[in-house]
Amino acid sequence: MDLPLKERIHIRFTALRIALYGRLVPFLFLEENSRASNSALFRRYLALILSLAQLIKSIRALPPSARKYFVMMRLRRLMRFVRKSPWWWEYLRAHNMHTLDLSVPEHFKKIPPTSPTHFAGVPRSHIATGSIDAAHAVLRRASGGLSGRPFQWYLDRRIIAADMAAHYVALLEEQGYDVKSRGEKQFVIRFNCRGGENRGILPHFTKDITVTHKDPTSQDIERLVHALEEASGAVIITSPSEIVFLAQLVEDREIRTPIALALVTGGAMHDNERHETSKRLGCPIIQFYSIQEVGIAATECRRRSRHYHVHEERTFIEVLNEDGSSSPGEKGKITITALDNVLMPLLRYQPGTMGRLIPSDGCDCLQQSPLLAIEEERGPLIVLRHGETLPVREITRLLAQDPYFEAVQRMQIIERPNFHIDIVLAMNTPGMFKEVASLMKAQVEKMSGKNLSIAMHRVDFADYQNRGPVFTSLEKP
Ligand SMILES: [Zn+2]
Repeated sequence: MDLPLKERIHIRFTALRIALYGRLVPFLFLEENSRASNSALFRRYLALILSLAQLIKSIRALPPSARKYFVMMRLRRLMRFVRKSPWWWEYLRAHNMHTLDLSVPEHFKKIPPTSPTHFAGVPRSHIATGSIDAAHAVLRRASGGLSGRPFQWYLDRRIIAADMAAHYVALLEEQGYDVKSRGEKQFVIRFNCRGGENRGILPHFTKDITVTHKDPTSQDIERLVHALEEASGAVIITSPSEIVFLAQLVEDREIRTPIALALVTGGAMHDNERHETSKRLGCPIIQFYSIQEVGIAATECRRRSRHYHVHEERTFIEVLNEDGSSSPGEKGKITITALDNVLMPLLRYQPGTMGRLIPSDGCDCLQQSPLLAIEEERGPLIVLRHGETLPVREITRLLAQDPYFEAVQRMQIIERPNFHIDIVLAMNTPGMFKEVASLMKAQVEKMSGKNLSIAMHRVDFADYQNRGPVFTSLEKP
C-alpha cells in the first residue's frame, strides 16, 4: 500500500492506542461495577471514553487509502487471534487455508462465507479464542423474534465497555450532543431493551426501563411517564415498535419532554411512521444497521434514508454475489467481519440481509465511510438439495394464518444435516397437533419443491426453553 511512512506510523500509533484503551477500560472500571456511584471514577471513565471517541473520529476523517490501511491492520490483528480458535482453525484447514496466509486482504477474501447455520450446535468453546467465563464475556442473547439465530454469540467485554461506548459517544457528538457536559447525568434511557446482561454498552450512563407494552399495567405506565418527565435532554435507545408506543404515550399524556435524540436499532421504520414518531417525540430519530452477533455495524446517513454509513473501525463489510465475487453498487449478500471481537471471531458472516455497497468518498452528509443500502432482510436461509435456499421467514409466516394462529403457541425450526429440518411445535390446543402438523408439513414441503425432508415434533411449553440448538424461533405476538 502506497502510504507515506509518516502516515503509516500515525495510523499504527492510533490503532495501538485504541487497542490499549480497550484493555484499560475494563481493567480500570468494570471490576468496580459502580454505575456512576463514584463521581471521580465516573469522570475518569468519561475522559477515557471521550478520548477513544476522539480517536475514532480522527480515523473517520482520514482519506480512503489511509482508512483502508487501518482496516487492514485491524484485520491482521484479528487473524492473530483466529489462530487460537479450534473451530476456525478446522474451518480454514478444510478449505486448504491457514491463518498465516490471511494477513493480506486478498487472501482473506478466499475464506468461504459463513452463515448462521454453520454455527448451529457448535459448542461456544470451540469458537472462542480463550476462556469465555463471565469475567470477560458478555452474552448476546437470541432475540427470539423473526431474526432468531441458532447460536448465542459472546462479545468481548472490552468491546462493550470501551469500543461500543465510544462509538455511541462519537455518534452523539456528531449529532451536536455534548456528552461531556451532560455525561454526569444518566443520559441514556434504554427502553424495553431485553436482556439486562448486555446493558454494559454504556454502563455508567444508562438507565434501563422495561415495561411490557403488549399488556402494560397502569403502574408500568406511571413509571414510564415519570421516567420520561425526568428525561430532560436524554437519549433514548430502543426498537422500532417500541418507539412508536413511546411516542404515542408522549402524545396521549402530553408529556413535554425535551428528549435530545432517539436511536433505533433492530429493524428499519417505514418513512411515514418514522416522520410521525419523530414529530410526536420532538426529536430526530437515527436508525442503525445492527446484528446481534456484532452489535451496531452502520449508522443511517442523515441525507439518504435506508442508506447506512459503515463503522469501518469495527466492522469490515463486503457485499457478495452468489459466486462470492463483489462489484461496487451491485446487489448481493451483506457479509460482515467483526474487527474488534477477538474473543469469538466472526469472519465473512452472512446474516441474511441483501444490500448494495456504495463507495462513498464524499457523501452530502460529509461522512466518508462507504454507504450500505439495505435492500431486504431475508433472515436465515435453509439450504435445499440442489443448492437453492428457503428463507426461514417463509415458514414462520405460516404461523400468522389459520389454523396455526390459534393452535400453535411457539415454533422452532432446527436444521439438521442432509437437507432435513425438525419443526418443533408447542401447542395452545394440544388436540390439534396431528392436524396442524400434517398441514404444515405439506405446506413446507411444497415451498421447498420437495427438496427438504421434514419431521414434526410436539413439546410441552415447559420443555421448550431447554431445547437446542435452535435454528430460529418465533414467539407469537
Ligand atoms: Zn451520508
